[in-house]
Amino acid sequence: MRKISFILPVILCQLGFLAINAQEQAVNISVDTLSKQVYMLTGQGGNIGIYVGEDYVFMIDDQFDRLSDKIKASIATLSDKPIAFLFNTHMHGDHSGGNAKFNSSETVLVAHDNVRGRIGANQKTKLEAKEISKEEYDKMLPEVTFSNDITFFDGEERIMAFHVHNAHTDGDAMVYFADNNVLHMGDTYFVGRYPFIDLASGGSVNGLIEAQKKALLLINEDTKIIPGHGTPSTRSELEAYLTILEDIKGRVQTQIDAGKTLEEVKTDKVLTAEYDESFGSGFINPERLRETFYNSLKGIQAN
Ligand SMILES: [Zn+2]
Repeated sequence: MRKISFILPVILCQLGFLAINAQEQAVNISVDTLSKQVYMLTGQGGNIGIYVGEDYVFMIDDQFDRLSDKIKASIATLSDKPIAFLFNTHMHGDHSGGNAKFNSSETVLVAHDNVRGRIGANQKTKLEAKEISKEEYDKMLPEVTFSNDITFFDGEERIMAFHVHNAHTDGDAMVYFADNNVLHMGDTYFVGRYPFIDLASGGSVNGLIEAQKKALLLINEDTKIIPGHGTPSTRSELEAYLTILEDIKGRVQTQIDAGKTLEEVKTDKVLTAEYDESFGSGFINPERLRETFYNSLKGIQAN
């Protein structure tokens, strides 16, 4: 019996390893050219933005650490200049998981103040459990942080990063390449799926709506938008998406005002029915969306 109980975990472990291996091999990094200098890289996790400048490469988000070599190889096909800055749009692991692999003497990690705090807190348990070394821990953390906005200059380009309050999380920032007219919205905008609003990390429905309104003020019909997840998008698509979010917010608020419970709103399929087919098949299904909207509008932080 002792032998079996020893072998089984080993087999399961190997199967798990094979599964992860197969998953990694299956991931291809594809490149979309959005302007003369800005590209969107898609692999697994959040969309990566790459700006190839006169003097350096500016990178936005880095997906998972297991994909770092593939992502580096893909960037190398676009430019051999150093990645001077790696910007995290927020703290989630599918956008910042590769931080330690990209952090080097030539690459500076930049993010909103709260991103450093939340990555630090999340990784601290791994550090204490000795799953990661102190060196790895340190390299995951943004090295330059800001509270409202920060601007980078390169040749004719002005790269404007700005914080939006309590939207997808409490540390979101968007990055606008003014001359190239490309906006990376991080996870404040998903294309073709309902939004994920991480209430436990400081996100809110009202903040997400305000963030999208702020984006609309900045951009024009020719702007290319890199969403956190999904295909490249446009101002008119974002506008349509915002209208839907505001409509759902209104509907849920009406239910709250009528004294409906979380359970009633969560299970009320009619509430979001007209949008579910187009947006409800992703990570956030219609029930979860209604739950999040209810909790957020009621000021409940649980997610
Ligand atoms: Zn996220």
